[in-house]
Amino acid sequence: MAKKIKLGTILPADTFFYTIPFDPPGQRVTREMLAQHFPEPKGRRAHMGIHTEYKAFKSGLISVEVKAPDDSKNMLFLHVGITELDVACTCGMPEGKLCYHGYMGLYSIAWQHYLELDRFYWPGISADDSLRNKFLITDIHKDWISVKPKPLYGNIFKSAIGFKGDQHLSIKEAASIANVVSGGKEAIAYCLAYNVGNQSNSHLPVLMSCLGITSKRDKEVVSFKQFGRRDKPITNIAYTPNQQQLNDISFQQYEIVKRINSSSGEGKKHEMVEAKQAMLTLWEQVIPLLLKEKYNYRYYTYWLKYLKYKPRKTDMRDCKYSLERPVLSFLLKFHQDHFSLTAIVLVNGNALKFDYKPHLFVFDDITGLCYLMATVQDDNLLMWMLSNNRRLTVMKEHFIEFHDTFLAKLNTCYMVSFTDPISKKTVPYSFELVTDQIIKQDDYGN
Ligand SMILES: [Zn+2]
Repeated sequence: MAKKIKLGTILPADTFFYTIPFDPPGQRVTREMLAQHFPEPKGRRAHMGIHTEYKAFKSGLISVEVKAPDDSKNMLFLHVGITELDVACTCGMPEGKLCYHGYMGLYSIAWQHYLELDRFYWPGISADDSLRNKFLITDIHKDWISVKPKPLYGNIFKSAIGFKGDQHLSIKEAASIANVVSGGKEAIAYCLAYNVGNQSNSHLPVLMSCLGITSKRDKEVVSFKQFGRRDKPITNIAYTPNQQQLNDISFQQYEIVKRINSSSGEGKKHEMVEAKQAMLTLWEQVIPLLLKEKYNYRYYTYWLKYLKYKPRKTDMRDCKYSLERPVLSFLLKFHQDHFSLTAIVLVNGNALKFDYKPHLFVFDDITGLCYLMATVQDDNLLMWMLSNNRRLTVMKEHFIEFHDTFLAKLNTCYMVSFTDPISKKTVPYSFELVTDQIIKQDDYGN
């Protein structure tokens, strides 16, 4: 594979690069791999006293200064390809093999025995410093270099890799939405307990019954006494059949979130993904029942365990549910050298407005209505887009690959629109339209 290094700018055009192939998948070099490219120096102290310092990330090359135990001082230049790492050294590697400095330097920066290099792989961007400065934030420190997209560009497509985090998504055509139950009516408050964000305190939204005192004319609940749970029910209340159904579902939901909450880390994330469909199905049964209730609130829980304590009135908000299910759609736009893809959530053709969302729901800032997402897949896709500043970025030269690996699939399952740069009208996305108007316009591939 041709190296996308602009040799001649920082290094002479005939610079020798030694190639270390990665063990796929991933772009990682381990100390074990290094030992296959250089005779391992023997002795207990052979690897002691190496000093490395990251210096720059320019023209697609990472420079690392290496002071080796033999008191030599050299600069390494690393280029990260999709399948291999290329290494040059100021000693020139006269034997055409990985030099001592290269081995020692990589050994040293392979912190905790391995070196992850994917953050340096930005095809179509990093070799050109003006593009790099436009799209990426490069932060250089003597012990590390971080390279990430500017927030404006969200998640940038990498050729042969795709988008960060997309391996956990599934994009399939949605099954039809199951229809729901009905019941009676009466007075106790029901809260949609939720939080937002991806932190360890994050949980799936859960319905909680809540004992409250109503205002003079019963217009609202003015103080909240306790949450109802299976292990600590609200007693001395004559529940309606509607409320008995709601309580039963609320207990089921609480058991699910409590079970997930007792896990942590990756295990918790995995259980949350697994439980999401069951939770959505329960919420589908709940919402028509809640529409018959007089006192509906939403309640921000910082931690799930707070549901064991007295409800805080300051975290209660009015909550009006809609039976409509939002439609997830996407908008593709072209901007000179790149494309953006953004998510739009529509109800009856109108876009909902919101900055954050919990799992499964969207609260619309314009109408104040609370909507249950149509499918778990829609919700996962939307949450993923939100976590990337709502935007995917694709370099123009990667458009065809992006279409083939991502957009074509998305377009068969969702409505994708495209803003035509000539007419300025938004039209249904078509690959031919985009390639005719944009990709073929400037000798793509030459
Ligand atoms: Zn060297």
